[in-house]
Amino acid sequence: MTSPACIFCKIIKGDIPSFKLFESDKVFAFLDIQPLSRGHALVIPKFHGAKLTDIPDEYLTELLPVAKKIAQATGAEDFNVLQNNGRAAHQLVDHVHFHVIPKPNEKEGLG
Ligand code: 5GP
Ligand code: ZN
Repeated sequence: MTSPACIFCKIIKGDIPSFKLFESDKVFAFLDIQPLSRGHALVIPKFHGAKLTDIPDEYLTELLPVAKKIAQATGAEDFNVLQNNGRAAHQLVDHVHFHVIPKPNEKEGLG
């Protein structure tokens, strides 16, 4: 279920440090190291697979509720949830991840 060479598997195991936001038996969430805005988070399954199509449904179904809670916790009214699959789709890390990217509006200030 994990891949020794995978950065995100190492983060799940704690071998690479991260700013952890949430953890359950199937899901791990942490801040992106190169945030596109303040609070940019990544939500990942504790199951190694590069693409959405590689992950069992029982893991996938837990990812969106966590993404939703993190989006709410940022307080941002506007946000993106993104999930890239494959190089042509701009995926750099081959372990499924949902980006949660707050998009502060003018009222909320800068990201
Ligand atoms: P992708 O382009 O694959 O959808 O996005 C991968 C994301 O993972 C990027 O936003 C990148 O900043 C983030 N990332 C890559 N390596 C690390 C790391 O070691 N720690 C953290 N926290 N984020 C990482
Ligand atoms: Zn992995």
